[in-house]
Amino acid sequence: MAQLSDDCFAFGGPMMSVDEAVGIIASRVTAVRETETVALDTADGRVLAADLAAPLPLPPFTNSAVDGYAVRSSDLPQSGERVMPVRGRVQAGSWAAAPLGPGAAMRIFTGAPMPAGADTVFMQEDVRIDAAGDVVLPSGLKVGANVRPAGEDIPQGAVALAAGRRLRPQDIALAAAFGLTELEVIRPIRVALFSTGNELASPGSPRAAAQLFDSNRFMLLAMLRRLGCEVADLGILRDERAALVRAVKQVAASHDLILTTGGVSTGEEDHVKAAVESAGSLVLWRMAIKPGRPVAMGVVDGTPLVGLPGNPVASFVTFVHVVRPTVFALAGTAPDPAVAMPVRAGFTYKKKAGRREYVRVNLRMAGDGTPEVVKFPREGAGLLSSLVETDGLVELGEPITLVEPGQTVGFLGYASLI
Ligand code: AMP
Ligand code: MG
Repeated sequence: MAQLSDDCFAFGGPMMSVDEAVGIIASRVTAVRETETVALDTADGRVLAADLAAPLPLPPFTNSAVDGYAVRSSDLPQSGERVMPVRGRVQAGSWAAAPLGPGAAMRIFTGAPMPAGADTVFMQEDVRIDAAGDVVLPSGLKVGANVRPAGEDIPQGAVALAAGRRLRPQDIALAAAFGLTELEVIRPIRVALFSTGNELASPGSPRAAAQLFDSNRFMLLAMLRRLGCEVADLGILRDERAALVRAVKQVAASHDLILTTGGVSTGEEDHVKAAVESAGSLVLWRMAIKPGRPVAMGVVDGTPLVGLPGNPVASFVTFVHVVRPTVFALAGTAPDPAVAMPVRAGFTYKKKAGRREYVRVNLRMAGDGTPEVVKFPREGAGLLSSLVETDGLVELGEPITLVEPGQTVGFLGYASLI
């Protein structure tokens, strides 16, 4: 599957900035084109394949926004009350039996079509009924008040949902409002997922004393599924270059993306980089990001490969910044950079200039009613508890070297990242 051209760019410089890497991914990864039709009830999270033009206006007919009395605005005085007989009644789901004649009001309910002749509706709370059963209307209501004109929400023919949109529940509601029962979406992105490392044992298998259970694979699997991917969980590969080369070559043709974790650093037992160079070509290796840094991106027989670091926190952070944009690009969906929300820092932190850092934090309401983030007390990239026990990440841009309490920082909640 030729999703990324081999010659797209050479490995430039020792470390690539996050923005540069994201830009390269967005511009160079080729979107999958194959589509499928899905029923509305399974369309959540799928990527719309083509623009959806409104087949009918919303609302489809002009109707009342409230329970009340429909009138002709030309009958209303500038000042003072106006008493009118109530002629007719129109309920949601049916048309008025006759048009509204001059000098009269019609009882109307929310969602009912406006009777011909009427252009304004008084809310029932704003009027009273006199002893004769006539309605007493106050002055000062604007022409057209409490009326929902046909097409005010979406006019017929307008692009209601654009191609490339990752469908949300409200988008599906819109399709249903048009009377559609199914939507044309991009087929799921197929990802081949491997963990690498001799020290890893799969949960459910025996663990030797010097081994730990493979946790990254399950985190990545869950994250990929949240992005709508179809994931082939291919288990654990040993730290052997030949085995890695064989494995990635074997899956390249049948997947849109190959994802590995571990073995991507510079140690003698880190073989992923060499394996990518041998099976295909390396596109990016080190990124100016912490936690993270060693991230390999390459191309194997036209299929992009991302090698994430093994430390769980580094794996999580680089997934968000490299894998997520890659999956979005493969699905032809617009890159969706999470906007960090400004909040007050409740901690001190020093960092080096020139790299992007992500600090694990908890968000809380401080005593003065201002949202404030507090740093997780420990920093190791191997601490799974630091991801489990926090609410999100504070993003510290490349130029920043110091954060002090009271300063405004950008907070990214985990829910906005994955
Ligand atoms: P590496 O990137 O292979 O140098 O691994 C860095 C650290 O992450 C080591 O302590 C590994 O044991 C650990 N690690 C690597 N892969 C995984 C994994 N799949 N699950 C949990 N920990 C891992
Ligand atoms: Mg390793």
